[in-house]
Amino acid sequence: MTNEPLASGLYIVATPIGNLGDITLRAIDILTRCDAVACEDTRVTAKLLRHLGLHKPLWRYDDHSSEEDRNRLLEAMRSRSVALVSDAGTPLISDPGYRLVRMARETGIPITSLPGPSAAIVAMTLSGLPNDRFLFAGFLPNKDKARADTLAELARIPATLIFYESAQRLVKTLDAIGEALPGREIAVARELTKLHEECRTGTPSALAAHYTSHPPKGEIVLMIAPPGEDAADENDIDALLLAAMQQDKPSQAAAQVAKATGHDRKALYARAMELKTQGQS
Ligand code: SAM
Repeated sequence: MTNEPLASGLYIVATPIGNLGDITLRAIDILTRCDAVACEDTRVTAKLLRHLGLHKPLWRYDDHSSEEDRNRLLEAMRSRSVALVSDAGTPLISDPGYRLVRMARETGIPITSLPGPSAAIVAMTLSGLPNDRFLFAGFLPNKDKARADTLAELARIPATLIFYESAQRLVKTLDAIGEALPGREIAVARELTKLHEECRTGTPSALAAHYTSHPPKGEIVLMIAPPGEDAADENDIDALLLAAMQQDKPSQAAAQVAKATGHDRKALYARAMELKTQGQS
């Protein structure tokens, strides 16, 4: 580390998501040497800077910032070094900054991004779900229909799905996943890097039951295993097929269960026919 002034430009700085010990040496260095810090909530960032023994001009930048605010900030970056932080974790990841970075790039302002904590990555590594491919999908929509449509859109993607979620909405979301993807393995990671950190896995219905009787507190990342990695065992699959066959023909039942679980439709159809024959004998 040096005390040299920083070159002008934009520095994207990840900050801890709970445990202050997770700040990187490089983040401390840039926050120490920058001319100003652009942040979502000046009170939150002032607290972090106080913890580091720093005092810097704080410029508010959030989703409500206007084009004019952005232009003013970009103009400042031509002659000064500006660190961009969010309240916690990596800026831009379900946090403000995308437009600012895009415009900085378009107008030739130097940009540096410092890696650091992000709840999505901490949750993914903790969950034990397949991580060779994952898709971060931010927050699910609030409205029932939009949420169901998003889940249907993502259902067949061969990757672990990662969402940010709130404690108040968790059970409702698990119920919606239970309807759209009943057999899938789910992981709920809560209060990451904090005192009450936990990660629970199970089917959507088992987790919904747990969190109904133990209402969750704090911050949450919810993950859905890829199709074919279901928590549903063969008995669950049979139950899903039998339930579907009460309304529909075996071919349609197999198609529905294939959509929900990601299992092979032909294999499900064969099993549906076996179950039908067993039921008739
Ligand atoms: N940019 C941040 C990041 O990189 O993780 C995320 C910001 S987003 C507005 C906030 C959401 O991230 C929370 O609602 C929660 O879903 C998730 N989150 C943040 N900190 C968390 C933590 N310590 N444990 C679990 N989830 C967390």
